[in-house]
Amino acid sequence: MNVREHYDEVRRKRRNRFSLRTRLTVFVTLEMLLCVFFAYGIDILFATTISLRWKVPLVFELIGSCLLVGVLATSRLSKYFFSPIKKLRKAMDRVANGDFSVRLEDRSSSLEIMEVYTGFNLMVSELNATEILQTDFVSNVSHEFKTPINAIEGYSTLLQGEDNLSEEQREYVEKILFNTARLSSLVGSILLLSKLENKQIPTNRSLYRLDEQIRQSIVDLESAWEPKDIQFDVELERVEYLGNEAMVRHVWDNLIGNAVKFSPEGGLVRMTLTKKQNQIIFTVEDSGPGLSPEAEKHIFDKFYQADSSHKQEGNGLGLALVKRVLAIEQGEVRAENRPEGGCRFTVTLFEK
Ligand code: ADP
Repeated sequence: MNVREHYDEVRRKRRNRFSLRTRLTVFVTLEMLLCVFFAYGIDILFATTISLRWKVPLVFELIGSCLLVGVLATSRLSKYFFSPIKKLRKAMDRVANGDFSVRLEDRSSSLEIMEVYTGFNLMVSELNATEILQTDFVSNVSHEFKTPINAIEGYSTLLQGEDNLSEEQREYVEKILFNTARLSSLVGSILLLSKLENKQIPTNRSLYRLDEQIRQSIVDLESAWEPKDIQFDVELERVEYLGNEAMVRHVWDNLIGNAVKFSPEGGLVRMTLTKKQNQIIFTVEDSGPGLSPEAEKHIFDKFYQADSSHKQEGNGLGLALVKRVLAIEQGEVRAENRPEGGCRFTVTLFEK
């Protein structure tokens, strides 16, 4: 039986059982009766065992028995009523953290609880299905776009190897190749951003070393910093982080890539990674032109490019992506100018 059929069956059964409200009414009535009988029992006990001079007023006996029965019975009763809610809260926390595999055991003796649990299970399985559908759609579209781009790139590369091309033809082929690479990166960024925009909660989380991921990002950007002879001053503490590794990687690639791109030849890029209590702080500083007041306001907007001299090298989506990834990871990013020139980007991640 699938989750929906099970949910419908639980709802059908509803009429054949005592409701939670009836049970609570019965329990509380029984508890009150117990108090009265208990007080009466104490009264008889006092009357038969202790002399009449020490007779305790009935009202005190009643208060005493209420306290005793109240504390003992109500604590057991509240466990019966509240433990399913506690279980539900824990399961909801897991879903909020992107774990759609969580299911609640729906064999409770209370039908209301069973109904809530099966409803919860149905909701989580629907969420899971939507997530799979969305990922499939994005990857299909991405494939549809990338295949023709790759074909153009492949044939242009073949053409570039031809010996009998005129100077003019060679120039055209190079332009085709350059623009295909731009188009390919633009399609990749748009698809990634649209995928992330539909995502509210972090998924595929694992515990990994952030400092190593940042080092790897620097190494992989070698083709950008090596020709410019960029100098690095890197101080990264050993930090472990629980998050979506592939997604967080875009943050470092974009920020370090920009620092390199906007630094002049032989410029210096400084990076630090520290952990203070439950905050992980990453900073990257460059020796570039810094940000104008206008750029400071808009750099995280989609397609915003302040610096016309570097327009060809990007598409204005990098920082929008950074911001979106950090929103999903419940982190934040800030940009500011340094007094000595260049700018500083600060990323804060919160340990979960
Ligand atoms: P792009 O692909 O154009 O780099 P981004 O979204 O990464 O797109 O950045 C948007 C704009 O913000 C850039 O075009 C540039 O004008 C500005 N910017 C980003 N990083 C820096 C930096 N380190 N120094 C100066 N300007 C920057």
